[in-house]
Amino acid sequence: MKNLPLQQILWSIALAFLVVSVVGQWGGGATEVIPYSRYRQLLDAGQIAKVVVSGDQLRGDFKEKQPDGNTAFVTQRVPPDVAEALSAKGVEFSATPGSGTLGTVIGWILPPLLFVGIWIGASRLMSGGKGGAGGMFGGGLLSVGRSKAKLVAETAVKVSFEDVAGVDEAKEELHEIVEFLRTPDQFGRLGAHIPRGILLVGPPGTGKTLLARAVAGEAAVPFFSTTGAEFVEMFVGVGAARVRDLFEQAREKAPCIIFIDELDALGRARGATPMGGQDEKEQTLNQLLAEMDGFDRSVAIVILAATNRPEILDPALLRAGRFDRQVLVDRPEKKGRVQILKVHLKKLKLAADIDYDAIAAMTPGFTGADLANLANEAAVRATRRGAEAIAMEDFAGSVERIVAGLEKRSRVLIPRERRIVAYHEMGHALVAMAIPGADPVQKVSIIPRGIAALGYTMQQPTEDRFLMGADELRTRMAVLMGGRAAETLIGPDVSTGAADDLARATDIARGMVARFGMNTTLGPVAWDTEPGRFLDQPGTFWRPRGYSEATAREIDDAVRILLNEALERALSILRTNRAKLDEGAESLLAHEVLTGEELPRPTPEAV
Ligand code: ADP
Ligand code: MG
Ligand code: ZN
Repeated sequence: MKNLPLQQILWSIALAFLVVSVVGQWGGGATEVIPYSRYRQLLDAGQIAKVVVSGDQLRGDFKEKQPDGNTAFVTQRVPPDVAEALSAKGVEFSATPGSGTLGTVIGWILPPLLFVGIWIGASRLMSGGKGGAGGMFGGGLLSVGRSKAKLVAETAVKVSFEDVAGVDEAKEELHEIVEFLRTPDQFGRLGAHIPRGILLVGPPGTGKTLLARAVAGEAAVPFFSTTGAEFVEMFVGVGAARVRDLFEQAREKAPCIIFIDELDALGRARGATPMGGQDEKEQTLNQLLAEMDGFDRSVAIVILAATNRPEILDPALLRAGRFDRQVLVDRPEKKGRVQILKVHLKKLKLAADIDYDAIAAMTPGFTGADLANLANEAAVRATRRGAEAIAMEDFAGSVERIVAGLEKRSRVLIPRERRIVAYHEMGHALVAMAIPGADPVQKVSIIPRGIAALGYTMQQPTEDRFLMGADELRTRMAVLMGGRAAETLIGPDVSTGAADDLARATDIARGMVARFGMNTTLGPVAWDTEPGRFLDQPGTFWRPRGYSEATAREIDDAVRILLNEALERALSILRTNRAKLDEGAESLLAHEVLTGEELPRPTPEAV
């Protein structure tokens, strides 16, 4: 805060200004405003010593001190003819300055104007050549352009990595960063550099903010903590000025960490908001991008950010050199839930019958925040019961209550749904494992994730792919159909769970037919130009179609045929492996997550 003295000087000047004008106005303390009629009476009575006329105003001294102690007066002249008429009738009369008195107006307006001018000039000087709109607000005037980021002292944060449980991967990643900042020299020894930006991604309540605070607690470096919302302002340029200010402060304190919570508030894709406020947001985002690019790798500043909506972030933010490292902070699996429970139950008085595993088994889909809530709820319940310690029954009761609340937000599955999801995911996995050459399955989970996905099957591509053959695309479609196929086999009904799979499979099929020229009847024609993307762009509601009605029908038919083939293929694989499907689904229900060795091995597809 090197500009504090200057600000003080400005304030002193302001104060002096005020004092002088007040004293000037009332300093004599003895000037009386009198009606014009009284002036004339006094004049007739010979009480007036001296008069100064300026325009229509008369200022003067009384000959003697008046009874109320006044020695001077001021009055406003009334036109003589009016005055005569009025005094003839003995009426008291006076006048006020007319609107035409330009001098008075100037006298009132000019000083404040001058004053503001001086202030702005001084602010400019003070903020040292910060350009643009931000510069005007840069450091002085009301300090709107200052970042409100709090510099968190190392000792102020009591959170450590031990308080965050069940997110080991994320912790490991962040631990590395902390180590780097503690001993930058050792890391730089071989020319390695830390990532510039790390983005914590995950559903609400999984501990992203907590993790960041733990980093602050662990790191022996300054930690600037702020949220995306603090950069969102009404006035163009203010947000950008704050970003600039934040980075300026950080550069002075390097090595240090900047943490931006809820990054989505500021990092929303540009042009995504159809109405107003766009310019300001874009400027702010552009400033952030510029700042992230702007300092060289040797400056040890790490930017940590958190979001639960990575899909709406501007893609530019995720590019190399910016938030290129993303750390998934997901809902914990059973083992993680046990660890989190241990953290939150540590301080509570527990009965002997508490079984962490059993509680974790009751709470699939719970986040760290939900579990913290559960611990508290159970304690409340036990207290209400008048018990000495919190018992298992308190947890069971509380789980029910919390689940009821979560179900409304459709995050926790009822048992019948869990079974369907287990079969669905195992269907994907078995189809993928049975087709030779399909991407290997890494992990199958029925822990609900994000907003839409109730479970997921993670396939790890063996290599980065830029080109794909028609065969591979068919394989992908079959794997996507695996979920629906499994649901069909166990019956009696199919569910809405396959909506996303179908959409993706349809995309592939449509692409094969209408973009990649992979259908012999329709030929090597790019019927669809500019795939999909246009649909997301506001303002482009309608686009002329470059082909006939008949071709459109042919395309639709070809797409349908491809998708039906894919479903049939998945069905046939799963029929062959029906026992494996049941077995896999059962163990998925029991363990929630299956990886590598734990997955059943299906019979490979006959070619
Ligand atoms: P997010 O920022 O991801 O929405 P928070 O970090 O604000 O979630 O978590 C809210 C609270 O939930 C934390 O203060 C903590 O009490 C609890 N919590 C969340 N995740 C964890 C975790 N992994 N370990 C321990 N407690 C957690
Ligand atoms: Mg948070
Ligand atoms: Zn699916």
